[in-house]
Amino acid sequence: MSKLPDEFSEEMKQILGKDYTIYEQLTDKEAFRGISLNRLKADNTTILPFDTEKCPFYRDGYYISCDEKGIGNTPLHHAGAFYVQEPSAMSAVTLLDVQKNDKILDLCAAPGGKSAQIASCLRNTGLLWSNEVVKNRSQILLSNFERMGISKGVVSSCYPDILCRKLEGFFDRVLVDAPCSGEGMFRKNPDAVKEWSREHVLSCAERQLSILNSAAHAVKSGGTLVYSTCTFSYEENEGVIKRFLAENPDFEMCDVSEHFGRKTELPCAVRITPIEKGEGHFAAKLHKKGESISETFHKNIKGDIPKELEDIFFEIPKGNYITMNDRLYIMPENIPDIKGLGVIRAGILAGEFIKNRFEPSHALFMSAKAENLKRVLSLDDKQIKEFLHGMETDSNCSNGYTAVTYQGIITGFGKTSNGRLKNKYPKGLRIK
Ligand code: SAM
Repeated sequence: MSKLPDEFSEEMKQILGKDYTIYEQLTDKEAFRGISLNRLKADNTTILPFDTEKCPFYRDGYYISCDEKGIGNTPLHHAGAFYVQEPSAMSAVTLLDVQKNDKILDLCAAPGGKSAQIASCLRNTGLLWSNEVVKNRSQILLSNFERMGISKGVVSSCYPDILCRKLEGFFDRVLVDAPCSGEGMFRKNPDAVKEWSREHVLSCAERQLSILNSAAHAVKSGGTLVYSTCTFSYEENEGVIKRFLAENPDFEMCDVSEHFGRKTELPCAVRITPIEKGEGHFAAKLHKKGESISETFHKNIKGDIPKELEDIFFEIPKGNYITMNDRLYIMPENIPDIKGLGVIRAGILAGEFIKNRFEPSHALFMSAKAENLKRVLSLDDKQIKEFLHGMETDSNCSNGYTAVTYQGIITGFGKTSNGRLKNKYPKGLRIK
């Protein structure tokens, strides 16, 4: 790595005290890598084709070896069984303390690591609204939503202030994983060291405070607001929290009881550095004063449900069925008015009506449970690789739309016709 900038080193000495020399020695070592398990798809790590070691930052978080190559091309990655994520980045969702049936906003969500964790904790209850202001990044977020099989979710691309004022007091928990100067990325991306400047740190702090002030609107009384960054800087972390609390007296600090990371001067916050076996993260937990009123979700099915779904499922997925521009969506119950909020997906795209015929979508199968599907084709190691390349395969199912599983996890679908499976794995996702 290039030499650390002097001003950065000085600040790290203030933050780490006598531990600074340990940090400095670690800057030339390899970066930690990890995965979080997606409980919507997998129950444990025994099925994974690589070794894992439990990490302390999240209950379903694991270290993986630095030498592990090509993980993104493994069938279980395509199946959404796990998400590749830097271990300390998993800490923020632990502080968020997701409970089933919560309505949760992930305000700066792309590419979607923390949203994947939140969805895994929600187990397809409640609602996960993931927002990413940068348009093309929100498409990556959507693709990860589909891979992870998230059905009770909304993906939007909206300015935080517009979104959070329109959804005033709607969410039980809001996560702000803010854009930052990335000091925790120095080992992973040595170019980040060259791009570092004090001015950038200070401008990031202004932007972070502004995003956090917007986010405050969306939290309901009695709700939780978690702020995180992948940087060490005092201004971008403790500084932002202190300024936010001074401007928002309806918020207070929560005591963080997690046993990981290093303490900060704020009882509500932890910092993780390579010394604590993570690349670098800061996370703080705040509480919006007031009584928390819990709501229950009412299940209702509305709209026209195409007959073809009865040929696919034993039990038709619940939700609100809405058709827009010949596309059928299954929306989560109780979602608020989404007009003007840059929503690019609410719930799942179930399929498309093409010339009076219904063609199901990849997302419909990815969010389904194999036991609820009438046709399931289990593929072995060789067959799944061929399937992910877009090839046809033999099928012992009856004619019709057929889910494809690998190690019991739905990885895609095809259409069985006279003993052959026509491949429906989306072209953009195929292994080349
Ligand atoms: N939470 C994500 C995850 O776990 O995969 C990582 C989020 S990243 C640290 C911060 C995100 O904030 C980026 O995707 C960036 O595009 C977005 N962003 C940039 N400027 C923003 C702004 N002014 N308001 C909100 N989000 C912004």
